[in-house]
Amino acid sequence: MTKFSDLKLHAKVLKAIDDAGYTTPTPIQAGAIPPALEGRDVLGIAQTGTGKTAAFTMPMITLLNRGRARARMPRSLVLAPTRELAAQVAENFDTYAKYTKLTKALLIGGVSFKEQDAKIDRGVDVLIATPGRLLDHFERGKLILSDVKVMVVDEADRMLDMGFIPDIERIFQMTPFTRQTLFFSATMAPEIERITNTFLSNPERIEVARQATTSDTITQQLFELPGTRRDAQAKQKRDFLRKLIDQEGEKVTNGIIFCNRKVDVDVVAKSLKKYGHDAEPIHGDLDQSHRTRTLEGFRNGEIRFLVASDVAARGLDVPNVSHVFNFDVPSHAEDYVHRIGRTGRAGRLGAAMMISTPKDDKLLAAIESLIKSTIPRGEVGEQQAPVSKASEADAAAENKEERPKSRSRSRSRSSSKPKDEAKADAPETVAESKSAPKQEPKAEPKAKSEPKAKPEPRAKPEPKASEAASHDQPRENQSRSRGGKGRGRNEDRGPKVVGLGDHLPTFIEKSFADRRTD
Ligand code: AMP
Repeated sequence: MTKFSDLKLHAKVLKAIDDAGYTTPTPIQAGAIPPALEGRDVLGIAQTGTGKTAAFTMPMITLLNRGRARARMPRSLVLAPTRELAAQVAENFDTYAKYTKLTKALLIGGVSFKEQDAKIDRGVDVLIATPGRLLDHFERGKLILSDVKVMVVDEADRMLDMGFIPDIERIFQMTPFTRQTLFFSATMAPEIERITNTFLSNPERIEVARQATTSDTITQQLFELPGTRRDAQAKQKRDFLRKLIDQEGEKVTNGIIFCNRKVDVDVVAKSLKKYGHDAEPIHGDLDQSHRTRTLEGFRNGEIRFLVASDVAARGLDVPNVSHVFNFDVPSHAEDYVHRIGRTGRAGRLGAAMMISTPKDDKLLAAIESLIKSTIPRGEVGEQQAPVSKASEADAAAENKEERPKSRSRSRSRSSSKPKDEAKADAPETVAESKSAPKQEPKAEPKAKSEPKAKPEPRAKPEPKASEAASHDQPRENQSRSRGGKGRGRNEDRGPKVVGLGDHLPTFIEKSFADRRTD
């Protein structure tokens, strides 16, 4: 078996690895580090949790240890799709570079340009950034990328989902042709394949875990709730979620509860709190410092439950998550794998429990086909009558939610609601993009009592507003960046939707539902 000492990493990196307590390299590390140290391009097909961050950070530190950065000219560049992931890379860098004198800067939204400019001005060895923010700095003339020797693209498939591929292409073109590229993606969608064919040169390809693989250390269960009126379903799910948590008892040391929509993240967190559970929401509409605080609290055990959207929780590395609860069946089968991968990490045991209703049948079939297994069904037990009166404690949270559902966002219906409200009801889109006033479709009909969504902190451009606005979303028409899977997240939501789209307004559905079953 390969040992770290066989990998020709710098002695200072080996010492830091020793401090971290790692004994053996993970497969992606054993596969990627040697070619990376030889200066070759690497194409790593690996999910989070495989140790891939260290797989590129460790050789980078070794390669950069000689030489120093010049002002405004970083020597390496790491691109990550979200602020949280970029921050995680920065943490990894701090861990493995602690015995070196290498410097880094983290360029993410929600942090002042001034502070970031000052660091870049002094010269940094490693620049870790989200694509939009990097381009903002570049276009303000504060950054020169012609000295980049190593460029890393992390979570490329997420970049694709979030419409960042055109930005990535631009950034590639701004760096020297001679740079070394380390490129990581959990899947190889055709668009990703195209990018790698264009920008990587004869890469060493290392594939460690298939995207559809769920870890053996995770016990999965599915709880199929009976159908009920749509306006009672969410409450039924919240009641059942609490039942699950209570049943698991002390086995739940902590857990992440995933919802498909930001508005449900808020409602579920609020409802759990009302019932005495220690729960906090995290999604892209909360400001960065709030998100950071919440994550920190969850990491250090002060918060027991994190109620999260996919984008906010993506790739988060919290080693000891005992349970993942899927409050909603994810709309994209791959997200199931990503979500449950938050537990059972690094060989530990974990439990993943998902609540479904009859309307989820198609999504479930897609998940089970992706993971090539049937998720064991758990005992649901007696369910309350469909339209139970909301208990007092839950009533407030209930009122916040069961109002007209979001309609297709691609239809330009006019509405006078503010954009933020519309945003809150939508599936989460881009965590890092600095919101998109221009491209945002017309607002949907919306509950008045909807929890107010706070917009993502915006970059405060020093130059013309028009300049920065161009970066608010991935730059080009996002539909261009799709990889043929039609999964459209933040993209225009146009091509995917036919007729009324995925989300019917409740008042339309209700007239049928009333006559049908209830
Ligand atoms: P990543 O896939 O980069 O998100 O890493 C997942 C987790 O694995 C992180 O908590 C790392 O600290 C940890 N890790 C990385 N490399 C190793 C290793 N060789 N042995 C044990 N744990 C590791």
